Amino acid sequence: MADPVEKLLETVCNDSRSFCVGEILVRKTSTGGFALSHRDDKATDQLKIFRSAEDAIDIAKHDDAGNYRPLKTAPKLRHGWRLDLETLEDLRRALDYFYPGRLAMFAAWKSDKLQITPLRETLERQSGMYRAAARISDSQINDVVADFCRSNGGCLRTILWKRDAEEVIASTKLPKEKFDPAYDQMMASKPPGSPTPATAPIPATIPLLCQEACNLLIAECRKVMKGE
Ligand code: SF4
Repeated sequence: MADPVEKLLETVCNDSRSFCVGEILVRKTSTGGFALSHRDDKATDQLKIFRSAEDAIDIAKHDDAGNYRPLKTAPKLRHGWRLDLETLEDLRRALDYFYPGRLAMFAAWKSDKLQITPLRETLERQSGMYRAAARISDSQINDVVADFCRSNGGCLRTILWKRDAEEVIASTKLPKEKFDPAYDQMMASKPPGSPTPATAPIPATIPLLCQEACNLLIAECRKVMKGE
């Protein structure tokens, strides 16, 4: 029997001939396979072709300028490639290389099994040099999260966690869509005044969910406390 992630992908693939995950456009081919590319490259022919799910590891590693991408959900996926895959299992592996763990989180969320951790709880759990991060004030959190997690230049994940056990919103400075899994974060990822993404209207989008603050945000909180 297919596991929840396979079932989820199967359903999405059966429902539409193309769909999006973060910056990636997935199109079903006439031979029953899948063609993946950057969403901005939808209408581009001159793309470098790759044929193995494992090629996604290298494609995701650096941005267009050759800089390493420590946060795989940052809106800086490089352009100019197409990844041709034969099976659903290949597709699953490739998407997991591009966006580690995100399909599993979405499947868990769909079945109401996703555990979500408030930021204060994640901060309290830190040890060693990151213990200092827990001293951050609520208003500093408001600013840091707005700056670091914003879809425009920061991260394409949809934030599900709250600031603390009182269920206070993570940042009042982010638009309400940042917390809405039904909203395509790519629509907010371009600077104001930019043209609408080339793939609009979007057929279907699998959201990249953030169920718990990542290490990079914790490091950013620590920097604030250290005055760096
Ligand atoms: S905490 Fe979540 S939304 Fe913020 S940068 Fe990290 S992964 Fe992205």
